Amino acid sequence: MRHDHATHPDTLAVHAGREDFAELGVHAPPLDLSTTYPVRDLEQGTASFDALVGGAASAANPIYARLFNPTVARFEAAMARLEGTSDAVAFGSGMAAMSACLLAAGQRGKHVLAMRPLYGTSHHLLDSGLLGIPVRWVTAEILAGAIDADTAMVVIETPANPTLDLIDIAAVVRAAGSVPVLVDSTFATPVLQQPAELGARLVLHSATKFLGGHGDVIAGVVACDAEWAQVLRQVRAATGGLLHPLGAYLLHRGLPTLGLRVRQAQENARRIAERLAAHPAVARVSYPGLGTVANAHLVGTQMRGPGSLLAFELHGGHTAAAAVMGAVRLATPAVSLGSVDTLIQHPAGLTHRVVDAQTQQHCGITPGLMRLSVGIEHVDDLWADLARALVAARQAEAA
Ligand SMILES: *Cc1c(COP(=O)(O)O)cnc(C)c1O
Repeated sequence: MRHDHATHPDTLAVHAGREDFAELGVHAPPLDLSTTYPVRDLEQGTASFDALVGGAASAANPIYARLFNPTVARFEAAMARLEGTSDAVAFGSGMAAMSACLLAAGQRGKHVLAMRPLYGTSHHLLDSGLLGIPVRWVTAEILAGAIDADTAMVVIETPANPTLDLIDIAAVVRAAGSVPVLVDSTFATPVLQQPAELGARLVLHSATKFLGGHGDVIAGVVACDAEWAQVLRQVRAATGGLLHPLGAYLLHRGLPTLGLRVRQAQENARRIAERLAAHPAVARVSYPGLGTVANAHLVGTQMRGPGSLLAFELHGGHTAAAAVMGAVRLATPAVSLGSVDTLIQHPAGLTHRVVDAQTQQHCGITPGLMRLSVGIEHVDDLWADLARALVAARQAEAA
């Protein structure tokens, strides 16, 4: 429980966010489901209310669960330690986290700059202008020139969804100058990269994915400095995009095994990627570990490893993709990723449907593209399942 001097993420993942256990006399995190808290000292209650609505991290009295919850706060404390930031703010989903960041951005500028590709719904949220702040799409090459006094934020995702292309975070931070950079680091997890160390002001995760890791929690979290955390807590208190304490409890419970899960899945993914690349039904495999994505040289520097997500293109296009979705038995044909079990999905038909056809084409989201989130099953069983599904793909292609 004493981890003040621990620096290794594997140790922090086990111990962080548990600092108050000795005082409480507990060994596992208490799950506090209270929606409201007694206020017997009105002066203290008023001061606490004002502090929490203003975005304070805690107060003498929690007052109301939309303002503070200790179970959620413990998960946040752990995430801040893992990302190397002073604070973290948790939300009811990755998109609630992204929305809070964009609402906060709207307070400080007139537009957001973003790079494609992004998670389908992030792209849609930005492109639709739903939150009142318009987006300008940029590339790494034109980013510096696109920054002006009205730029509120730069939004990137690396590794990107679903192409697995990597973006040089430090280069983006340099180009952005004083404009805050948000990195969606969902695919990497803090096990593989720490964007804040490279100068990102906001590190966003869909905690639904690897952080939860067991397919039973939907959540989001933003690791950031104290100044941003205060604004994000204000937005959360006002708009209510909360993480339920049970979700926070499950997330915190899962963090100790995050490193084990991520590294085992990554080992499997390396081997699956090689086997897919050699398979006659497969035209192309995009995997940072194979060097087949943009900026693959960042594996080993920005990223400690290539991760466990990959995308592959089937020769048979949409027909073959549909056959694979119907033929897998061990892998689950489903959206989402980062679970202990293997998930396979069709971006053009599912996650990236909300992205217009032109952007899909621009980002390489083709009818034959499949995205695979490799789990921690035995790799031989996984490959047997995929190989069987690829036979079905070739039969469908020939028919
Ligand atoms: C899933 C995902 C999101 C959205 O998160 P939800 O928890 O589904 O709201 C955002 N970014 C990335 C990269 C994702 O994979």
